[in-house]
Amino acid sequence: MSRIPLARLVLATKNPDKLVEVSELVQRYGLTEKVVEGLHWDDVEETASTLTGNALLKARTVSEATNEPALADDTGLEVDALGALPGVRTGRFAGEDATYEDNVRLLLSRLDRMIDRGASFITVVAIVHPDGWEETAQGVLSGTIATAPRGTGGFGYDPVFEVEGRTLSEMGDGEKNLLSHRALAIENLHEQLKE
Ligand code: IMP
Repeated sequence: MSRIPLARLVLATKNPDKLVEVSELVQRYGLTEKVVEGLHWDDVEETASTLTGNALLKARTVSEATNEPALADDTGLEVDALGALPGVRTGRFAGEDATYEDNVRLLLSRLDRMIDRGASFITVVAIVHPDGWEETAQGVLSGTIATAPRGTGGFGYDPVFEVEGRTLSEMGDGEKNLLSHRALAIENLHEQLKE
């Protein structure tokens, strides 16, 4: 039996950039009738060694704290020339308190004069229901790392992540959310939950 749409769904993130994208995506794919906001939970430390582990950790913690179904995502950037780093440490690449700009600067310096600029964004989404069921799904976006930031949209590494000649930050409003790793993960989650 289909598990969607859920009557209510808490988005288990405090990152306002992610909230905008995920909120649009869960509504586009009909995962819920109502996105629930304004609930409180303590910060969740991402201590797992995999994206799936961290996504489940966040969704389980928030579902338990709110007694509502919760959806979390964990995203990693895997750069070919760096042996798939920063991976699970994508948000903390340049240190625990690194800003988006710090991380981008470090990435560009590590790739200075490198020919191989291939990279992938990987998102794992996890949904956890207080009844006890859980589901995870993954989305992958392949691209290349630009030699300098370009564009004004998006967040994080978007100004240096190129897909077919344009960075995610150069794409128009909503365009990133049609093709991104996060969109693919939620599309796959939708496929699994509707069965
Ligand atoms: P998180 O662990 O899933 O919160 O993401 C870790 C880091 O990955 C964030 O702090 C951002 O720097 C980066 N990130 C996550 N999603 C995206 C995205 O869609 N575009 C660019 N960077 C992202």
